[in-house]
Amino acid sequence: MEDDITTELRVLQSHLDGMLDRVQHNSLTLKRFQTFEMRLLNLNSLAEMIEQLLEDAQSFFDLDVISFCLIDEKSEIAAYLSDDGYDYLANNKLILLSDNELLKSTFGLSATPFLGTYKQSSCAKFFPESERNPVSVAIIPLRRRGKYLGSLNFGSYTPNRFINDMATDFIEHMVSVVSICLENNLNFEMMRRTSLIDTLTGVNNRRFLEQRIGEEVDRSQRNEEPLSCLFLDIDHFKQVNDTYGHQAGDYVLSIVASVIKKQLRSNDVLARYGGEEFVALLSNIPETMVKDIAERIRKSIKDLALNFNEAQIKVTISIGMSTYLPCKVSSKTSAEISTQLIHSADSALYVAKKSGRDRVEKGKVIDASTATRMAS
Ligand code: GH3
Ligand code: MG
Ligand code: MG
Repeated sequence: MEDDITTELRVLQSHLDGMLDRVQHNSLTLKRFQTFEMRLLNLNSLAEMIEQLLEDAQSFFDLDVISFCLIDEKSEIAAYLSDDGYDYLANNKLILLSDNELLKSTFGLSATPFLGTYKQSSCAKFFPESERNPVSVAIIPLRRRGKYLGSLNFGSYTPNRFINDMATDFIEHMVSVVSICLENNLNFEMMRRTSLIDTLTGVNNRRFLEQRIGEEVDRSQRNEEPLSCLFLDIDHFKQVNDTYGHQAGDYVLSIVASVIKKQLRSNDVLARYGGEEFVALLSNIPETMVKDIAERIRKSIKDLALNFNEAQIKVTISIGMSTYLPCKVSSKTSAEISTQLIHSADSALYVAKKSGRDRVEKGKVIDASTATRMAS
């Protein structure tokens, strides 16, 4: 009798130990997920989120393989990342999909994570770059408001690491957090972009220029490369409005902006500074070549044959240019140099207007001596 009770007690104790182990294990897992989620919530940009997500998830969940699919129908994500200087093509764990076909065909409407054995036919596209295919996978769709955003793809070389009937509560919670963070970051990037773009011409606006010019001056100093500024203004633009109407004027403005942009390199800055005025920043071009570029732009505008409501419109443009030649010791701040650069190009533009328009005028070269002179 006593023996029976002792045996029963032992069994109970062992059950209890097992349960305690499981509770402890679950509580550790929960903590790990919470830490992971908290870190995600504190990130500020899409690029940061991608990096952190891939890095953290791999170590937090001890994964052999990981990848992250994002649906990027209009190549906006690619543009946001490039603008942030993030080389997304170099990250082979990030897969940008041009449509949601892969996710739709994998998950249908259910959007429940797929946990199970790796199958070449259905899983290969989620792990295109891995050197060795995983054996066990968890492919987790990210959705918000009924729309696929992408998927998080976990892989392990251990069989049965992810199995079909595994409890997925933690994963589903984490995926909701990731989806919300992703949606927030995408919305934020979109807002940031639209607030820095001029809606009529599609080029950047003055606010963008003001944010960017300091960075360009800093870079020019760091790399000891010249930085040039063009101030461009359409000649007699008021007459275009007066003769052909404001809508025709708008049309001319947008074409002129796109023609200027085409003459620049992709990393040059072009902003609409005000009404019919644009500012371009050209980095690392020898001062002697900047005039040729400005002349090329001037000529391409002069050669334009613009048709609006059967009217043929011709316009010309005047350009003032200035260049900053960096020096190691400068008493000027980048804000002061920026102001000088714009001011000098603007003064040259004034001369171009006074000298008959449809021309390029060179302004001051800003270097150590000018900087010191103007500082004193
Ligand atoms: P100048 O050769 O001296 O530069 O003469 P201008 O006529 O180009 O210069 P002015 O500053 O006298 O006139 C600029 C005109 O640009 C007046 C304004 O109505 C027009 N403008 C400014 N913004 C816009 C716009 O968004 N759309 C249109 N259609 N016109 C605009
Ligand atoms: Mg003008
Ligand atoms: Mg003007």
